[in-house]
Amino acid sequence: MSERITHFVDGKPWTGEPGRTGEVFDPATGTVSGHVDLAGTADVDIAVAAAVRAGREWRDASLARRTSVLFAFREIVNARRDELAATITAEHGKVLSDAAGEVQRGLEIIEYACGIPTLLAGGHSENVSTGVDSYTLRQPLGVVAVISPFNFPAMVPLWFVPIAVACGNTVVLKPSEKDPSSAGLLAAWFSEAGLPDGVFNVVHGDKEAVDALLDHRDVKSVSFVGSTPVARYVYERGTAAGKRVQALGGAKNHMVVLPDADLDLAADAAVNAGFGSAGERCMAISVVVAVEPVADALVERIAARIGGLRTGDGRRGCDMGPLVTAAHLARVTSYVEAGAAAGAKAVVDGRDVVADGAAGGYWLGPTLFDHVTPDMSIYTDEIFGPVLSVVRVASYDEALALVNACEYGNGTAIFTNDGGAARRYQHEVEVGMVGVNVPIPVPMAYYSFGGWKSSLFGDTHAHGREGVHFFTRGKVVTSRWLDPSHGGINLGFPTQT
Ligand code: NAD
Repeated sequence: MSERITHFVDGKPWTGEPGRTGEVFDPATGTVSGHVDLAGTADVDIAVAAAVRAGREWRDASLARRTSVLFAFREIVNARRDELAATITAEHGKVLSDAAGEVQRGLEIIEYACGIPTLLAGGHSENVSTGVDSYTLRQPLGVVAVISPFNFPAMVPLWFVPIAVACGNTVVLKPSEKDPSSAGLLAAWFSEAGLPDGVFNVVHGDKEAVDALLDHRDVKSVSFVGSTPVARYVYERGTAAGKRVQALGGAKNHMVVLPDADLDLAADAAVNAGFGSAGERCMAISVVVAVEPVADALVERIAARIGGLRTGDGRRGCDMGPLVTAAHLARVTSYVEAGAAAGAKAVVDGRDVVADGAAGGYWLGPTLFDHVTPDMSIYTDEIFGPVLSVVRVASYDEALALVNACEYGNGTAIFTNDGGAARRYQHEVEVGMVGVNVPIPVPMAYYSFGGWKSSLFGDTHAHGREGVHFFTRGKVVTSRWLDPSHGGINLGFPTQT
């Protein structure tokens, strides 16, 4: 019997009859581990109605009450981090240590949200006119929707949910149907921490549930993370319905290696950032831009390191796990075939991997292509797998032009010992998150995460101050306490006196 994975609405697991369901797999064995309920429009309506009801009280909950729930939630997640990591690995496939890292980064957002009393503090000006004061308020939006991808089933929901709740909103989360169980754990633990019923709801599903959220009159904002075509669609449909939308999309992240870089450090970084989580990270490095004459020495070092990696079941202490589904494995493998057919040099071919795991797992080993050119599909497309391309260029200017011509602008890194060159790159590159000798420059909770160009639709990045801004509406109050001296008729525009 496989497990039924169901919605979490109004403080409890859903008890309704399942309608459509989807299969959930253990990617390291290829076996079905569960069936997830796929919500229809009517189910989404029930969840949104629960969130509307809960919002009437939660928007007025004191900051002290909200933070006491967040502190308790933080303690629960921290105490059960291993359980959450194991749940992630069982459905996503990433190795346990990587899943633990994801949980840690999620915890940091919960901790940031615990500071909401300071984050919501506004401005106050006394005597903007004689006897008149002005001050700002930031108030919750109401019901907010979060739609998350498969690759960070705990961290991405945690980018948004703690901050949204801390700001006094109520939430409906639609997690990826590929690895849905982490979201259910988070919802149950939030309840246990004292969050009132209906403040945080989880509705599982696919496009039908997403469309129902995008069209729902009572959903005031949408925070989406996923592939670029869906991000663009969510942004356009959500904003057309009058909602505030932040839609984070796909990526193709370049790592530029200048001739003066430490090549051992650069090779370590390329391998870690290219093959961690089997390349299924929106901040994965998928292109190394080698500024000559470093390419031969760099490729040799990367290939040597790949030789030491163990691909296999994430529960066995391997370095790299399987891909998430059989369909995704087929798609990524088709890119490996296309790269070879287009004339790129396969220095390491992951199709030859002997995995430390069950025969039915979705295995592809680390793959390294050299002599990749910008017209090849392995260069232009987001592959989202363990496929690293090396493009050789003659100069810094050529490297910069290549990165800036890319459709995506999520993350990038430069490896160099020249501070001036690094400073120039951070200034000139058209990418939202830049690493200097740091291959995966994911901002901490108190900064905001987001890319440029086709990597983000909308103008607000996730978490940090921009997250607080996204989940609140500003208001300015101008107040005067009555005094007979202020009477009299004056139809002129108010000015300071
Ligand atoms: P995806 O776009 O397939 O799915 C994301 C979410 O959208 C899921 O909840 C899914 O159920 C839903 N969805 C899928 N197709 C839909 C459709 N046609 N209409 C409406 N909703 C739909 O993405 P994924 O495969 O789950 O995740 C991988 C992608 O996410 C990669 O492109 C990766 O770069 C991107 N990503 C981006 C960031 C970022 O911060 N920019 C972070 C993580 C992942």
